[in-house]
Amino acid sequence: MEKNKRLANGIEMPRLGLGVWRVEEVDATNSVRWAIENDYHLIDTASVYKNEKGVGEGIRQSGVEREELFVTTKLWNADQGYDSTHQAFNESLKRLGLDYVDLYLIHWPVAGKFSDSWRAMEEIYESGRAKAIGVSNFQQHHIEELMNAAKIKPMVNQIELHPTLTQVDLRTYLASEGIAVEAWSPLGQGKILQNPTLVEIGKSHKKSAAQVIIRWHLQSDIIVIPKSVHEERIKENINVFDFELSVEEMEKINRLNINERLGADPDNFD
Ligand code: NAD
Repeated sequence: MEKNKRLANGIEMPRLGLGVWRVEEVDATNSVRWAIENDYHLIDTASVYKNEKGVGEGIRQSGVEREELFVTTKLWNADQGYDSTHQAFNESLKRLGLDYVDLYLIHWPVAGKFSDSWRAMEEIYESGRAKAIGVSNFQQHHIEELMNAAKIKPMVNQIELHPTLTQVDLRTYLASEGIAVEAWSPLGQGKILQNPTLVEIGKSHKKSAAQVIIRWHLQSDIIVIPKSVHEERIKENINVFDFELSVEEMEKINRLNINERLGADPDNFD
């Protein structure tokens, strides 16, 4: 299993990272430092998480070279629009204490605004201050609309995706467009960890349900960013490169899909 995925523009993105939604600024510093000490290279934050400063501090405390890391942040809905995107990006960089991010995402497809936001994102990309740009929570029709006016195709779409919401149609479309799929709430926010199928598969590999789910994402070519603020779980969640799920096990997990969203519907979120 390759640890990185090559995005459409040639940039290498780690396939497994740490998410920090609902993590306080102070906890973000420790979580990020523990993650990097345990060989995570990808960190996923957003301006709306209000912990970019803590994330930046964790990166500095880790002592790992900036080039070794892949940092994602996101443009919040209230900041969408051409000028405000430029401004919001500069403020995110400042809070992170970085001079570039590896990936900048439009957090949600705000109607009537995301194409203007994208124009600014393209300029940010061309300036080298974001090594890749992409979207989050975009359905196929949102991407088609974006592409009508875009010069640069999004390199990533970060969407809600877990064994109970497998998003097969959207994944097929994204693959056909060369857009990498990244899963948010990959563990179903912890709510599917007692699922008997996942627990049973885990037992046969001496792995936890969380590890089985993360491995399922990786083997499905999905970039995955489980969240935890506990050092032991952060370690557990990256300890997934020493086993493999069989085709039958992958199929069993695929069959857990019930199209159940835990977060907002991208067609009706505000
Ligand atoms: P998740 O699916 O990663 O679940 C996290 C929860 O699972 C933890 O709070 C904990 O309760 C539990 N957990 C984690 N590891 C465990 C382990 N080893 N054993 C037992 N329990 C464990 O949920 P998430 O935080 O919603 O999603 C991950 C990341 O995705 C976020 O932190 C954020 O970075 C990103 N995200 C993005 C969007 C978006 O709109 N783009 C939305 C939600 C989340």
